[in-house]
Amino acid sequence: MNVYNSLSRRVEELKPLEGNVVRLYTCGPTVYNFAHIGNFRAYTFEDVLRRVIQFCGMGVKQVMNLTDVDDKTIRNANANGVALGDYTQTYKDAFFADLKTLNIQPAEVYPAATDHIPEMIALVAKLVEKGIAYQSDDGSVYFSVRKFPGYGKLAHIDFDHQQTGLRCAADEYDKENVGDFALWKAWEESDGPVGWDSPWGRGRPGWHIECSAMSMKYLGESFDLHTGGIDNLFPHHENEIAQAEAATGKQFVRTWMHCAHLKVNGEKMSKSAGNFFTLRDLVEKGYTGREIRYVLVNAHYRTGLNFAFSALEDARRSLARVDECVDKLEAAAAGAAGDLAAAPAFAAKCLEDFTAAVSDDLNLPRGFAALFELVRGANAAMQSGGLKPAEAAAVLAVFRRMDEVLGVVFFGRAKAEAVPAEIQALVDRRAAARAAKDWAESDRIRDELAAAGWAVKDSKSGQQLSRI
Ligand code: AMP
Ligand code: ZN
Repeated sequence: MNVYNSLSRRVEELKPLEGNVVRLYTCGPTVYNFAHIGNFRAYTFEDVLRRVIQFCGMGVKQVMNLTDVDDKTIRNANANGVALGDYTQTYKDAFFADLKTLNIQPAEVYPAATDHIPEMIALVAKLVEKGIAYQSDDGSVYFSVRKFPGYGKLAHIDFDHQQTGLRCAADEYDKENVGDFALWKAWEESDGPVGWDSPWGRGRPGWHIECSAMSMKYLGESFDLHTGGIDNLFPHHENEIAQAEAATGKQFVRTWMHCAHLKVNGEKMSKSAGNFFTLRDLVEKGYTGREIRYVLVNAHYRTGLNFAFSALEDARRSLARVDECVDKLEAAAAGAAGDLAAAPAFAAKCLEDFTAAVSDDLNLPRGFAALFELVRGANAAMQSGGLKPAEAAAVLAVFRRMDEVLGVVFFGRAKAEAVPAEIQALVDRRAAARAAKDWAESDRIRDELAAAGWAVKDSKSGQQLSRI
């Protein structure tokens, strides 16, 4: 498996540093509001990444942090007059529900920042001890950028000419304003009840120290892979490297990967620009999680993606083609077990292309092309003389194998789950009518189902339901 490493700026082979498990840290959400689909571009990219790692035969241990203390969470909790923990819980719950909607595989660990304050304090203390961090007049602790010679190696910027002594209290800033950044922020009036005692007085951690402390806790001082959206590269990830490596003297992370932005009319989708849709906005408009997932993952992760509703409509049409083909194959397989090794030549070729594509820096556009080639090949084979049940089952096994990465194909069971309760009730009544050989009633219910948009076909294994 090859991936583009933002640190070396080269495509390199991804091999675990130890054993066969890739240790992966993915920067998670700030739980002050519902995540927007720009955020979900990052999380679906990371989901595809972990799926490809497993597809290529390696294990994965993924850690995704929940930022539940920062300027925004504190501001909103205090403005609403609720405790910080109560405020963020709502958005943590919403985040996990959204992950399910998008069929994102859960990470192995979801550490929350507020549960790891002692680890962050210990890391800051180590940096102070080493003379790399210092306390300023206001009680905050800053990282002295000029004390870490490697500063700038991820962003590929030579900071030697930078002035020293500048300080930046905000978590986010641009390259022009680089300076010493806050590791620990002294308590301020606006923090209200939020704060923890530390050797430097009451305060709270900076955003960057959170990720260094929690990643090293769960993945070790040196680990394989760290990812996020491209906006995380500087200063967040640069600062994470500085904090970790200055403290341990070891390489923090071998490979860094960043996804390009989801845009709206050419501009980054963001809360601050107000040009965003949450996942819930789109679901309310009638789009399904898998249609949204399809749009998000069907572009190369390093290419900017412009959000448009027409893409969701295209996704619906494309997925309907896949559904129709899988339906027919399931009927043709008639319950036969699928064996990848028995796949007809056209399907084996598609799987080969798919495997080459996804293991080449997650080339999902080429992966989807292989999926649709499989749809075309399967339809053609079924039309001309048909496939034997074992062959149809083997083609289905190829779809399944591809879907381990894609996560958008509905197989029989998933489809049954998607059937609304009132439709299932009609199907059940029809089954009873057929058992009683009441063909008139069976036909009447079939018409009723058709009027509701569902086609029913009778096969040896029972009724097969599909959308009209
Ligand atoms: P935040 O909650 O702002 O820290 O962002 C969470 C994750 O979403 C980070 O990995 C960001 O880089 C990523 N992200 C934010 N906006 C976008 C966007 N428009 N497109 C892609 N990724 C984004
Ligand atoms: Zn982070």
